Amino acid sequence: MPQNGRNRLRAWQLKSLAAWHGRHDSNVPSTAESTDIERDCRFCAAARVRHHIVGNVAPTHPGPFEHEDYRLLRCSLCDVVYLDPQPSDRDLQTLYQDSVQFSDKTYSDDAAALRVLDSYARRIDRLGLVPAAVQSILEVGAGLAWVARACKQRSPRVHTVAQDISAECAAACPWVDEYVVGTIQVVSREPRFALASMTHVIEHLTDPAAMLVELEARMLRGGCIYITAPHRPPLWKPCDGIRSWLRYSYLHVPAHIAYLSQTWLRQAAMKARLELVHWDETHDGHQVFEAVLRKP
Ligand SMILES: [Zn+2]
Repeated sequence: MPQNGRNRLRAWQLKSLAAWHGRHDSNVPSTAESTDIERDCRFCAAARVRHHIVGNVAPTHPGPFEHEDYRLLRCSLCDVVYLDPQPSDRDLQTLYQDSVQFSDKTYSDDAAALRVLDSYARRIDRLGLVPAAVQSILEVGAGLAWVARACKQRSPRVHTVAQDISAECAAACPWVDEYVVGTIQVVSREPRFALASMTHVIEHLTDPAAMLVELEARMLRGGCIYITAPHRPPLWKPCDGIRSWLRYSYLHVPAHIAYLSQTWLRQAAMKARLELVHWDETHDGHQVFEAVLRKP
């Protein structure tokens, strides 16, 4: 079966499973709460725009957190589903700096690592994103820098730069030529990259639009930014309410601050002087989107 058929099938399986569990979960409302509210959108910055209350969500990480009562809102204008309120800086610090993220099996088991590497290599091949020899790639929020590794494997003379706020993986990535520990500001603001990648990173940012502006400044003309991130539960529509979100394996509270949309990404790209040249929300059974932005 072709990949898009497999993703569609998996989406239907996941959706049916969520519906089955939902029927046995009597304390979760079966349909969306009818309440809409008017407020400023943290993502498209529109003032007093209608938001749909998707429903309440509790932390999926042990914490301890200052704040534990969250809900998901969907902006009717930009279609972003986001966590309300915004997690505090202290709670984000609890998530990222006080915990070890890369100790699970996917990262220590060689066969699993090769599967992850192979899937990124096939994606960047298919999208024609592998930089030419001596060009540079920047992997943002890199962790183990899978995309840099895939590029290095395809084209050994590519120069790979990885940035991460944590030093946890810095010594474990021989395929990275420069591993920068710190925020994106630590990477010099000059246009030198042919490719930047953010895989499962943008959903963690409180201001993803600002990150696109930072990246644009560091890209060569014609350079591309490869992005993957959780989108929403398979085939979810606003009238479906919260149930399928509670079964969504990418619902991480409060780590995932926003589930972005094609509408939002197109607008944010334009403001950052980038263009959205690829969008595909069918990955992993219609749960994850993949996008490419290009600097004209
Ligand atoms: Zn909005």
